[in-house]
Amino acid sequence: MVAINQQIFLAKRPEGLPAEDTFGFRHIPIDKPEQDQVLVKTLYLSVDPYMRGRMSTEKSYIEPFVLNEAIAGSMIGEVVESRSEHLQAGDKVQGFLPWQLYNTVDASAVTKINRLDVPLSAYLSVLGITGLTAYFGMLDIGAPKQGETVVVSSAAGAVGSIAGQIAKIKGARVVGIAGTEEKAAYLEKELGFDIGINYNQVDDLQKALEEACPDGVDVYFDNVGGSISDAVISLLNDFARIPLCGTISSYNNKDTDVGPRIQPKLLKTRSLLKGFIITDYAERFDEGLGELAGWLSEGKLKYNETVTTGFENTPNAFLDLFKGKNVGKLLVKVSDPAN
Ligand code: NDP
Repeated sequence: MVAINQQIFLAKRPEGLPAEDTFGFRHIPIDKPEQDQVLVKTLYLSVDPYMRGRMSTEKSYIEPFVLNEAIAGSMIGEVVESRSEHLQAGDKVQGFLPWQLYNTVDASAVTKINRLDVPLSAYLSVLGITGLTAYFGMLDIGAPKQGETVVVSSAAGAVGSIAGQIAKIKGARVVGIAGTEEKAAYLEKELGFDIGINYNQVDDLQKALEEACPDGVDVYFDNVGGSISDAVISLLNDFARIPLCGTISSYNNKDTDVGPRIQPKLLKTRSLLKGFIITDYAERFDEGLGELAGWLSEGKLKYNETVTTGFENTPNAFLDLFKGKNVGKLLVKVSDPAN
């Protein structure tokens, strides 16, 4: 095979916002698959905010990336050579693999994608970890009821855009917070949110939220933490629920993020604040995917993807997450499938 393999590795641990020198590129060989192995060509890479945490050494639910070794994440690929009875050339697969043009791995390291009537990339967005995170966070922890008020932060992002629509499906009134006028309009006009707030435009977010949520907040799907969340939490109703999904506002902080003490508000309102990591729900993924696919085919759920083209642009795509450049899931398209 005349093909070139390339790898992206962690060249430097970032302090604050990662930069181009955080990442290194190098050529590596393409290994021939051995018995029960497959050679997978990368089609799509997922860039995700949590990867910023893995670039630091801070203790977390997942090990840090190793300096000078490949960065790894969710991807979709195509089997180009197989020595496994379970997969054949041309099969589309998904897995959690190094950022490389090609990976030679045990067949058990990837899962065959049995295509529904959706584009392949959807398996990294609405029918992937993104959709599942929205689904379980919103329904298992948020559990919105008909007529309740739900607020979602980073509402035009990958998880937030799905989480808010799920709350709408359950009959809630949904307010989304996002970083541009276009995103706020997208939430209202395209996704059916009741109100979209551009937190970069309003003079006083607290006041804007009070106006948008005259009956208080019953569920807050928190993707961002920081001062946006301080403003929402001040409006919690009794027995409110907060699925704590992410804290992207602090991922690049050099100093400890200090804010108002929220314990009195949580206590007085008897609210539930629950952090969750989507892999906690691994045994229920089929249930979530089934329902998400059903809503998609019924036209009740829309999804969006911001796609960067080219393996060499992967680091910049990752950095775009922290600049608010994406609507929906941010993906890198690396190559086209052979069929
Ligand atoms: P998003 O698409 O939501 O992330 C990018 C968006 O985050 C940007 O477009 C921007 O939108 C917003 N953002 C970036 N920086 C800031 C900031 N300083 N303050 C406020 N908003 C900011 O990514 P995902 O949907 O993949 O993830 C959303 C959150 O959920 C993340 O915190 C992520 O870590 C977490 N997550 C957690 C999982 C779990 O298992 N718990 C699984 C998957 C994701 P805007 O223009 O609106 O500012």
